[in-house]
Parts: sequence; C-alpha cells; structure tokens
Amino acid sequence: MENARIADRLEAFASLLELADANPYTARAYNRAAGTIRATPAPVAELVRAGRVRELRGIGPSIETRLRELVETGEIAELSELERELAPGLVGLGRYLGLGAKRAVEIARALDVRTLDELREAAAAGRLRTVPGIGPKIEAQLLEALAREGDPRPQHGIALNRARELVGTIAAALGGEPAGDVRRWRDAPELLAVACASADPVSTLARFAELPQIVAVIDEQDRRAVGVTVDGVPVEVVVAEAERFGTALLRATGSPAYVAALEPLPDAADEAAVYQALGVPWCPPELRESPFRDAPPALLEIDDIRGDLHCHTTWSDGRASVEEMARAAQERGYDYIAICDHTPAVGAVPGLTADDVRRQAEEIAAANELLAPFRVLRGIECDILPDGRLDLPDDVLAELDWVQASVHGGQRMPRREMTKRVEAALLNPYVRCLSHPTGRIINRRPENAVDLERVYSIALEHGIAVEVNGLPDRLDLRGEHVRDAVRAGVAIVCSTDAHSVRGLGNMTYCVQTARRGWATSADILNTQKLSSILARRRGAG
Ligand SMILES: [Zn+2]
Ligand SMILES: [Zn+2]
Repeated sequence: MENARIADRLEAFASLLELADANPYTARAYNRAAGTIRATPAPVAELVRAGRVRELRGIGPSIETRLRELVETGEIAELSELERELAPGLVGLGRYLGLGAKRAVEIARALDVRTLDELREAAAAGRLRTVPGIGPKIEAQLLEALAREGDPRPQHGIALNRARELVGTIAAALGGEPAGDVRRWRDAPELLAVACASADPVSTLARFAELPQIVAVIDEQDRRAVGVTVDGVPVEVVVAEAERFGTALLRATGSPAYVAALEPLPDAADEAAVYQALGVPWCPPELRESPFRDAPPALLEIDDIRGDLHCHTTWSDGRASVEEMARAAQERGYDYIAICDHTPAVGAVPGLTADDVRRQAEEIAAANELLAPFRVLRGIECDILPDGRLDLPDDVLAELDWVQASVHGGQRMPRREMTKRVEAALLNPYVRCLSHPTGRIINRRPENAVDLERVYSIALEHGIAVEVNGLPDRLDLRGEHVRDAVRAGVAIVCSTDAHSVRGLGNMTYCVQTARRGWATSADILNTQKLSSILARRRGAG
C-alpha cells in the first residue's frame, strides 16, 4: 500500500471522527500523522511491518495499531463502520450546499438518502420538512442550492496548499494535469479543476468517482464531471481527446475573462501549440487573470532567491534551533537567513526580551562560525504596538542586522489609525521590512484597514521593504498588492515566516504569489547578495 493511500485513509478517518464528534485531539492527531506519512520518502507500509513506524514523528501506539490493521487487511474496520453510519457522501454534498455536517447526517438518517438524486427526490416530495430541526427556511435554502447549476463553487475559497495537494493527488491518480485556480496559484482557490487526455472518458470519469477524495458526484456529462470532497469542496474533471488536450487545459486554467478574450481556441495537443496557432506568446498560468496577448515579462524564478529573511526558532514559537534552521537554509543553496523570533507583545506565544535577544546573539555567532561563509543574521519580528511604537527599545534594535515590524494584536483599528500606526513604525530608523502588511488570515481574519499606497510611499522614501509572506494561510501581500508595490517601485522581500525546517519550503508560495504580481527578479530584494541588501538602510546611529 502506497504512502499516499495510507495518508488518504487516515485523513478520511480523521474527518469522520470529527463528524462523529469524537475527541478533536484524536482527529487532529490522525491528520498530523497523515501529513507525516505523505512527506515520508520511505514506504510506510514496510515500516509498519518492520515494527518501526513509531520512529516517525507524531505516530504513537494507537495510530500504529490502526496502521497495522490498514496495512494487513487493506482497511480500518472502524472507518468502514463510520462510513456506513455517517454517509460521508451526503455530508460532502450537504457542506457543498451550505448545510452543516450534523444536519446532513440527520437528513441521511431520517430520510435514508445517500446520493444527490435521492436528496433531490426527497426535497421535491417535500420530505425535508419532516426531518427534526429542518424548518421552511432551511428547506428553501436547500432547494435553492439544489437548483443551482453549472457553477460549482465551494462555500468559500480553501487554503492554497490544501487545494494544491487535493488537485495534485486527483490529477496524478487520473494521469491528468492540475488546472483551474490552483494552476494559476490563486491565493484561496475556488475552482478546482483537473484536465485529462483520454480516449475513454467513461472509464476516466468512473475512476474519478471512485477516488477516496471524492465522496459524491454532483454533475456528470460525457466528458466532464464535478465531484465533492467530504469537506464539501467541488472538483471538476474535464476529459479531452489527446489531440485536443492543450485546448482543454488552457480553457480549464485561465480565468473566464482571460479565456474568452482568446476564443475561438484552435484544437491542439498541447498548450504551446494552441498559443502558437493563435499567434500569441505563451503566458505563464499565474498571469492568466485578465485578457493579455503580449509577450509576458521574465518573471521571478525560485532559483533567483538567495536567502530567507523571516523565520522562527525554538526561542519563540518555532520548532527548530538556530543552527538547524541555518543548516536547512544552507542546504537549500541560500547564502543567508535571518532569525526573526517574536517579541513579548505578540502574547499568545513566547516573545524575546532585550535580554533574550542578546543571549540569542551568542547562539547565532556560534552558528556563523560553524557555517561560514553562510551568514545567519540577527533579526527580530518586532511587534508594532497599538500606538505605533515598537516592542523593543531602539538600542536593542540597533544591534540587529534585520528588523521586521509586524502588526499582530489590535487589528480591528479604523483605517486612519491603523495607517498611522504602521507609518510610525516604518519611521523607526532600524526597521528594514514590514511583515505580512495586511494581516489577513485566509478564511479567518480579514485584511487590516491599512492604506497600502501610503505604506508603499513611506517604504519607498525610507528604503524599507514589504514582505510577501509565504505561510499558505497568509500569502500577504497577495498578487494584486504585489503588482501595486512593483508599480510603486517598493522593494519586495519573499520570506517564508518558517516555524520549522520544513516551513522553509513555502518559498514556492512566496515566489508564485510574487509572480502573480508580475514581479521579476529585479523587484525582489532577497535575490540580491547580502551586502547589497544591508547597504540599503543604515540605522540612524
Ligand atoms: Zn507575524
Ligand atoms: Zn513570523
């Protein structure tokens, strides 16, 4: 049994445990274990058989027992039982239609419906109202959702890393290519799509319907189907004849406006040939938002990045030491890394006092001695207090190589106050970069009311950079903002805000987000050598 399949089953188990109202820690533990298994290069089934699977992070005795059962029998009996009892198909469907999981399970139980057709039938017959807890309002809402056609969208966008994994797994299983919002690296994808080439669409669509990620198919035509996951996320699959695959992929990738402006598309087996036949230069998927037919600029590439300027260690809420983070950065081929732990005002996690910062200096000096010529910078992610002052005194900041300023608490301020708060921080002579400038957390917290134009102009005047934060639930700045920053001429830093060695890998998200903002290597500060970066701004001293 492959690692991906094992991870799928653990994730399915986790989501059903959640549905069944089990201890939330248990569900989280299964999700974490699934993540570990997915990232493990060695075959996990063999580790299980050899009794060594507990050597993997996050796998304890109870998960080991489940894994043994899965590897030996091909299933987890309790999972199959939960699947029968909880009707994940209807749960996925319900969530897609805007119903809570509990409601969906209640409907499944009370009316004995499992599929979309059965649900439609029950709804048409007026039986929904007979389910305890479902009144005319929810009934009307559900009827309206059931009538909605042709535009499969989730209730809200999902995190890009989850979307990429979902679409990537489905594409791999069907031998197709990821398309839709994910291929354009949209920050919170809504349209998840896979394009396949196949002479036998019936069997491709049948395989799609049977994938473990897909709990129900909500729409099926000759060469197209839409399925939903247990979380209610719709995924579309289009199946083209091989000689039209390029055309199908292009159509399934671009925004409707982008594609419409290129229509009618000629048929071709690959995308390059479609563009060629149109007489339009090939366009990177990240730029396929608005109509565009010209030659695209040479966008930033991941190999242009020479260092990471925002990461955490065990000194605050990171999971690795200074040396571990530095070595990992060096292994990525970087020349430098900035250690930027939190300051006390961040609150929820440990923050460094002036004293801590000075003690950390010794550890950083030791790492520099070990790893030279690689450079570990003494940095800080310093909170911007509500009044615009910074959370550490200037004499401490003056010692540091790289100061990131961040708004964490008190984000509900009105626009004028928030802008003044950020502005005041940027005027501090030691600040080098504004972290996650809008403060949004995808699906959890909206963007701060901050005047970015004003921020850009101050940043430009004082040689301060703005960050593209690569945490998949931040991606802040996002593409549109990057484009404005590029136009304003402000320096942009691509940083992962990594809290672990693995987190450094999120540089891909920074780079792709910057590409969505049309950034070239010249627009990004950490494509430069360290001496040029540090020469940009000297402390007032
Ligand atoms: Zn932060
Ligand atoms: Zn941070």
